[in-house]
Amino acid sequence: MTDISPNLSTEQIRYRQAWNKLRWSVWLSWLLPVTVIPAILLFGWLLSIALHGIIGYGIIAVIWIAGWVMCNMEVGSFRCPRCGGMFFVDSGSSGRNPASGVCMHCGLRKFAEAAN
Ligand SMILES: [Zn+2]
Repeated sequence: MTDISPNLSTEQIRYRQAWNKLRWSVWLSWLLPVTVIPAILLFGWLLSIALHGIIGYGIIAVIWIAGWVMCNMEVGSFRCPRCGGMFFVDSGSSGRNPASGVCMHCGLRKFAEAAN
């Protein structure tokens, strides 16, 4: 893999990779439910033609919903790039806060750059 940011420290690169992964998962967790009906109609129709039955609609629906569930699980289990704890989950009394702007363990701000 080519290093496109030679002036960044290893920690900064690790943080950026973690935040990019989180952004991508959050974006998909919003995109997939918005596009589920058009996807079922378009891809389900094409798959149903190929399979000679309406099962294609069901297959596309299951794939889309499974993708959405996986994206939400990915966001929910996101690990803090600084402390390694689950960013949105506190094992104590606070529980789970998917809208939290800081790590529930170490307080790192969401999308913060590395310290150095
Ligand atoms: Zn943390």
